[in-house]
Amino acid sequence: MTIRGYAAKKPKGPLEPFQYDPKPLESHEVEVKISHCGICHSDIHLIDNDWGITDFPLVPGHEIVGTVTSLGAEVQGLAKGQRVGIGWQRSACLNCEYCLRGFENLCSQLKDTCVGNHGGFADAIRIDHRFAFPIPDELDSESAAPLLCGGVTVYSPLVYYKVRPAMKVGVIGIGGLGHLALQFASKMGCEVTAFSSTTEKESEARGLGAHHFVFDNDSQIMEKVASTQDFILSTVAADLNWESYIDALRPGGRLCFVGVPKEAISIPAFSLIVGRNSICGSPIGSRTDIREMLDFAVRNDIKPCTETFPMSKVNEGIDRLRNNQVRYRVVLKN
Ligand code: NAP
Ligand code: ZN
Repeated sequence: MTIRGYAAKKPKGPLEPFQYDPKPLESHEVEVKISHCGICHSDIHLIDNDWGITDFPLVPGHEIVGTVTSLGAEVQGLAKGQRVGIGWQRSACLNCEYCLRGFENLCSQLKDTCVGNHGGFADAIRIDHRFAFPIPDELDSESAAPLLCGGVTVYSPLVYYKVRPAMKVGVIGIGGLGHLALQFASKMGCEVTAFSSTTEKESEARGLGAHHFVFDNDSQIMEKVASTQDFILSTVAADLNWESYIDALRPGGRLCFVGVPKEAISIPAFSLIVGRNSICGSPIGSRTDIREMLDFAVRNDIKPCTETFPMSKVNEGIDRLRNNQVRYRVVLKN
């Protein structure tokens, strides 16, 4: 069998047609014919080798939806022809303390879908069936794809850090993750503020559930929102004035990072001490989070806003994402 896709051959390189013969299907694996794959900013970090973990040639893509075409001998709970989704994580040991607690996303043996393995900008993938999730019938595949990474990455910290309906939640960066975070937080009942560097996004952000919109490039505006937020989720890949966000927290508040800035975060300790505030982070989500998040999205009509490109136009989609032009997630289609 040959899998055809698109690969970066070198750091920051364009994606070029690429094909490979996968390893034989293992007993716990399924083969999935890919219909859709979202482009997440983490794919850009991998293409640019920002994190020093990329193997080239790299076939990126970890917001995958497709149908099961083959099953290994030990696969249970999935059937040929079934629609499934695959996110950032392709396997875990499933035996360690964290896996047994239901935090597979914290497993030290965690393997990424497109690190050391070819990902979803392709026509097929082979994957551990325990990391292929049935997609609810109510969700079309284009809408489901971005939920597999972007959706769960913003849903999981809201649940894990016990964000309650009465809380005031800020979302920094209204991109792929951020526009989903606005929807999840507002559907959870929170009072939601969008922090954005793009004033043109205001009306759409409000349409997605934001009650307030703050242009965060303006320090005077940021001063006005001091002590207003209980939980702020940062989804930006850029270096912002983090101290101004700590100042925006109410006592006991948290600034949670899911976006990955380039530089280290530098915060004066007093800004944390005085309000008993904290900084935290969150990686993707567990298998339970993914199933729960898909259910919650269906029940609350949460859907990404998508721009579709044929898989062959992958470089156009990547350029739009690099230039912050996407509203709000590019989904590639086979
Ligand atoms: P995205 O679609 O590019 O959105 C990021 C947003 O950040 C932009 O839309 C923009 O929103 C804002 N931004 C602020 N300053 C910016 C600047 N100088 N340049 C570009 N954008 C700027 O990216 P994404 O797919 O949502 O991913 C965001 C981050 O999350 C990435 O670092 C990605 O690797 C990370 N991520 C982490 C996890 C995890 O497990 N923790 C999972 C998935 C992704 P405004 O126009 O509103 O300012
Ligand atoms: Zn991602």
